[in-house]
Amino acid sequence: MASLSQRICPLCEACCGLEIEHDSGRVLRIRGHDADLFSHGFLCPKAVALGDLHHDPDRLRQPMLRRDGRLVPVSWEQAWDEAEQRLGAVLAKHGPQAVATVLGNPVSHKMGLTLYFPRLARALGTRQMYSASSVDQMPKMLAVGLMYGTWLSVPVPDIERSDYLLVIGANPMVSNGSLWTVPDFRGKAKALRARGGKLVVIDPRRSETAQAADAWHPIRPGADAFFLLGFAHTLIAEGLADLRHLADHVAGLDALRTALAPYPPERMAARCAIDAETIRTLAREFARAPRAALYGRIGTCTQSFGTLSSWLIDVINVLCGRLDAQGGMLFPKAPAFAANTRGKPGIGKGLTTGRYHARVSGAPEVQGELPLTCLAEEIDTPGPGQVRGLISMAANPVLSAPNGARLARALADLDCMISLDIYQNETTRHAHVILPGLSPLEDAHYDVSFTQLACRNVARYSPPVLARAPDQPEEWESVMRLVAIVKGLGAHADIAALDRAMLLEELERSAGAAAPQLLAALDPLQGPERLLDLGLRTGPYGDQFGARPGGLTLAALQAAPSGIDLGPLAPRLPEVLRTPSGKIELAPPLLVADLARIEADLATPAPELVIIGRRQLRSNNSWMHNLPVLAKGPVRCTLLVHPVDAARHGLRDGGVAEIRSAHGCVQAPVEVSAEMMPGVVSLPHGWGHDQPETRMQVAAERPGANLNALLDPQARDPLSGNAVLSGIAVSLRALP
Ligand code: SF4
Repeated sequence: MASLSQRICPLCEACCGLEIEHDSGRVLRIRGHDADLFSHGFLCPKAVALGDLHHDPDRLRQPMLRRDGRLVPVSWEQAWDEAEQRLGAVLAKHGPQAVATVLGNPVSHKMGLTLYFPRLARALGTRQMYSASSVDQMPKMLAVGLMYGTWLSVPVPDIERSDYLLVIGANPMVSNGSLWTVPDFRGKAKALRARGGKLVVIDPRRSETAQAADAWHPIRPGADAFFLLGFAHTLIAEGLADLRHLADHVAGLDALRTALAPYPPERMAARCAIDAETIRTLAREFARAPRAALYGRIGTCTQSFGTLSSWLIDVINVLCGRLDAQGGMLFPKAPAFAANTRGKPGIGKGLTTGRYHARVSGAPEVQGELPLTCLAEEIDTPGPGQVRGLISMAANPVLSAPNGARLARALADLDCMISLDIYQNETTRHAHVILPGLSPLEDAHYDVSFTQLACRNVARYSPPVLARAPDQPEEWESVMRLVAIVKGLGAHADIAALDRAMLLEELERSAGAAAPQLLAALDPLQGPERLLDLGLRTGPYGDQFGARPGGLTLAALQAAPSGIDLGPLAPRLPEVLRTPSGKIELAPPLLVADLARIEADLATPAPELVIIGRRQLRSNNSWMHNLPVLAKGPVRCTLLVHPVDAARHGLRDGGVAEIRSAHGCVQAPVEVSAEMMPGVVSLPHGWGHDQPETRMQVAAERPGANLNALLDPQARDPLSGNAVLSGIAVSLRALP
């Protein structure tokens, strides 16, 4: 008989509640969970692909081991023996600094990996840590970290009470938010406009969000900081700045005024391709709207001025009193795991970067990581500290980061590569051992990260929907076996005992003598559920182990399959701050000093034609291209070209273009579209499934072109280390 289960969708940041109908291990139907207190039944076309993912014959269900140059299926015992032998050998010969780790963004959708990877990181003690953050959102995290004190204190638009939403470099109509968990953005934007509000979009492409907006202003890729400087200058020069309730909570206002003074819109207009009067008009509109929010995302991050742009967005929200105000930008208050709900409210250590540097490039450490674009050279450059071992988790940087070809060559030369992944993809095909992860339907779930970015405070927990194979470990167990290897205990150590001992140590650091009682109070829970119960109970809504009766516990969440609503976002200043000054730092010296690059760039001529990426509704990660329900239909990896550029280069709709940059060359079908601003073309990211020895048959049928092959592997935002993915100069040639 069919059963019905609830599951939070793990396929993107929107975290919609789903209802899964299944029978005897087969998924029959997936639909939105109407009673879900956060997403109220909304879902997008990707959600139904969870069934395809679960049943995908290409999804790994058995560990793979490299033998005679080929990956072959083996037992878990054989896989662990090999992992212990190889990883142990690298550690013994070269030490922990020769072992790197790389995490893909699906890790943040996996409770077990998110909560247990830090154990592995601590056990290893390596500085060679990499993740998808440095090809995505590191600039925003650094900017808010410097301003508010913690890496994930990202304010999000209070869209349901706003009158004016200005979106720059983001496409929430397709993404349903990024660093902003906002299911059904379309419905919320429609409601905003229906109540007389205004949606304005700044983007090089007339994106799906721009098409639904009241106004669209095309901007030159990579020039957001110039636009935002002109905007902020206008606010001050025209007396529009009004900090309102924020006046007592800011530091550095005079330094900010001084820093902004050289950048009137008239100086910025040519560089960003938005005329000075439009910049001024937008600043006036924004300042005068009753309730307004400025939101920026991936386009503002993946460029050379990523951290400056991210900072200026928050500066503008502060200057107009939009931060921490209803209908403006508010800080979520997550039920667990948020650094901005821990420790003493309103003050903290703040953060620093550059505590160490990359061995080869000298790039500074940011949030305990080095830039992902440095990984290849750290592997293939000989010398002390050369990386000889790699542990990857749900990551495919060969496709999803610049420098893929060099990285692939470097991976093939490692002494040890262990991958925790569900696919044999362009990256994991180089592993010595692949340890398969779980299908999301076999896994329990709590949104560790996205509750910290959600448009409403809520707590939800999903138990596993379907049973996993008897010999398949949970992902946290696989991570703990790696911890055991690193600690010299061997892959077959008692990981339950090790997990308990490590948790006791952690509790002793935070709770001192009360640690044993706290640990006992969490019995008989184990693994991520035990950490989740601890996080919820000690969190801002928690029962504090009985001190606050009726407070949040995991048991309470398990009894509420539609979730527990914790209310709309509310002002949190000054409690949310963790800066040493206890204030919002408006002019962090690191950022103000970086304005020197703006001056230098103003003198640089803009390229005639540049390329940008784009997010698509049916894709988020590269492995989604292997799911039939998402892969079917028209070819999606197309080059969007404005009609003027198409005519100039002799391209026709449906023809094929060769796209060439100083760093590579790819070919793609052409889609002539007035969506693009002239001088800018767009290719979606995550494609290029034409490499040998992968096991993704559906994706290989229509491999698409890899945008990253065109990018400059050394181009980074110097502050955050984030890769530059936008605005790379290209030339086009029509192919027969
Ligand atoms: S918007 Fe994201 S979370 Fe919601 S159903 Fe689609 S993929 Fe899943």
